[in-house]
Amino acid sequence: MTPSQRTTRRVALLGFGTVGQSVARLLREMSSDELELSCIYNRDVGRKRSCAAARHVPSTAVWCETLDAVFATQPDVIVELMGGLDPAQDWIKQALGSGISVVTANKQVIASDGPELTALAQSSGVQLLYGAAVAGGVPVIPGLQQGLSGDRVMRLSGILNGTCNFILSRMEAGARYAEVLAEAQRLGYAESDPIADVSGLDARAKLCILCRVGMHTELDQQRIATQSIADIDAVDFAYARELGCTIRQVSRAQRQHNGGPEETVYARVAPMLVPTTSPLAWSHGTQNMVVATGLFGGDVVFSGHGAGGDATAVAVVSDLLAVAQGAQSVVLPAQPRSVSTDLIAPHYLRFVVNDKPGIVSAIAGALAKVGANIDSLLQRPGYPKQRLAFVVTTEPCLGSVINAAVSSIAAMDCMLERPLALEILTVDDKDEPTA
Ligand code: NAP
Repeated sequence: MTPSQRTTRRVALLGFGTVGQSVARLLREMSSDELELSCIYNRDVGRKRSCAAARHVPSTAVWCETLDAVFATQPDVIVELMGGLDPAQDWIKQALGSGISVVTANKQVIASDGPELTALAQSSGVQLLYGAAVAGGVPVIPGLQQGLSGDRVMRLSGILNGTCNFILSRMEAGARYAEVLAEAQRLGYAESDPIADVSGLDARAKLCILCRVGMHTELDQQRIATQSIADIDAVDFAYARELGCTIRQVSRAQRQHNGGPEETVYARVAPMLVPTTSPLAWSHGTQNMVVATGLFGGDVVFSGHGAGGDATAVAVVSDLLAVAQGAQSVVLPAQPRSVSTDLIAPHYLRFVVNDKPGIVSAIAGALAKVGANIDSLLQRPGYPKQRLAFVVTTEPCLGSVINAAVSSIAAMDCMLERPLALEILTVDDKDEPTA
């Protein structure tokens, strides 16, 4: 389409919160003649209309409180920035079904209904773009969809949750988990109920979306294993440092063949030991990062601000411009794949014990029984014998083998806590076979 053929697209914004207000500001500052902010929807809209950010909204725009009123303004594009499944899920469907393009930052809706909504958009001859749904302002979705569609992405490793990264990178610098979680809540990085962030559920939804657009695989979210960061302690950072590592919440997906033709995808969201030489270790604070490993092109790193109104609004406005210019994103069909939860990797095991003779040989015996070999034993001085924290690392073995050993070790009388088991990423961690 040439510029002379372009017409102004009427944009209706659903949700005038953090990102919605930034979108209004960016559109005003851009003053593009391709996009006109023509409608703002929010509950209790009078409150929004009198807030400072309302000055970015053109005086011609309609403020409203019902979806019917939004449709009455005849928008060309609806920007959904309310978040959550209900009513966003249904309203996006209604918009696409009515021939209106949709731009959204809603990871929950896209993770659960993405393929169905994309098919609906295609059959209605409109667009559904969601570049802000993963990693906020980092263009990882268009980067994978468009930029890497010519490669075969074998593995994705990412720091996808800014709250966890803020917490863990502050703990790396010496802060305690509870203090830094409270600080994250005070600064507005963490929700008052942070469970979706720290448990890995938020990152899991994002990993599903990345697998779809980058690896063209459709995974059952519920089958992706998650592990909370809440059990990580200051002592783990001290031991990780001795191993040349730090700790990050890593979202991983990797193609596997298990010796046969059928492909599965190992997928997991968990705190992991990351070598300090890995790009994943370099992300601090609320930064997000994704490393995509292509069969032909090797590693490609996407990094930047994963959250924040302005950064996220950049992704939303970029999608709006793409809609306005009729740009088609590359959509390759995603094949359903089984999720594998087992990978061969070295592991870090931290024990907290009431020290007495024979503990190390009992642990070594439990590991030997399941076929896991010890690689190193670390014991820092200074811990009281009644509460001694020490670490064993293993040679590469299946995670299920480690879990079996941990269950039997946890039952030993001397254990004061359930042992903590973390996967250790290796720098040349390519496409390991499973057993
Ligand atoms: P937010 O600040 O909570 O804004 C949401 C807005 O939508 C609020 O104005 C809220 O009104 C309104 N709203 C919510 N549910 C509504 C309903 N049922 N009916 C009417 N109005 C409703 O959220 P946000 O941070 O802007 O996030 C928006 C979307 O962007 C979410 O999908 C989020 O996951 C995604 N996202 C956000 C970021 C970020 O850094 N903030 C980054 C990436 C993606 P009230 O003021 O009355 O609650």
